[in-house]
Amino acid sequence: MAVKKVAVIEDEPDILDILVYNLGREGFDVVSAENGEEGLALVRQKKPDIVLLDLMLPGIDGLEICRRLKTEAPTSSIPVILVTAKGEESDVVLGLGLGADDYVIKPFSPRELVARVKAVLRRGEQSASQDKNDRIEIDGLLIDASKYKVMLEGQEISFTATEFGVLFYLASHPGRVFTREQLINKVLGDVVVVDRNIDVHVRAIRKKLGSHQYLVETIRGVGYRFKEN
Ligand code: CA
Repeated sequence: MAVKKVAVIEDEPDILDILVYNLGREGFDVVSAENGEEGLALVRQKKPDIVLLDLMLPGIDGLEICRRLKTEAPTSSIPVILVTAKGEESDVVLGLGLGADDYVIKPFSPRELVARVKAVLRRGEQSASQDKNDRIEIDGLLIDASKYKVMLEGQEISFTATEFGVLFYLASHPGRVFTREQLINKVLGDVVVVDRNIDVHVRAIRKKLGSHQYLVETIRGVGYRFKEN
């Protein structure tokens, strides 16, 4: 694997040191900035493979940086992981809505953070190589989009079109957290649905999955995620 470049935008020196040290030790090429303005310039100039972005920054804050990176063509495809303090879940929801790919909450373990960085990079490569997969299989659950069919341990389970859409969308992006808003827009966007309350659909999906309901995870204060394999 070619050396991947990580840009870290973080104003707390201790946390920046931890990030730079641990990512460097894992073989990443790390570049960093300690405020919003420099961070934005750094990403535009260095075109890293991924950005770790603190939300509370002096100058331009993390959400604004995320918005600019994700709306400007040269940087829009660079994955962004938000680094946030506990209790800032509402900012995480906004950041994911702006296109951020994942988030970690301080205090985090360096090992977990490195794993997240690798997972997000891996997901990017997977979605580039196999853009559309109609069949998803995990832990005895088979979701077949070409036949609109869900099998659990060999037994067919019937889902409404909306439930199927939500389940398939989540399962197509394992490990990625989606906000309720994102799910509504992406899955239910062009369907006329009576009930736009995503929680109701997820509850129904979980009930039908029975012993496999752990596959659809609730991320408190943020949204939902399908378990990563
Ligand atoms: Ca900060």
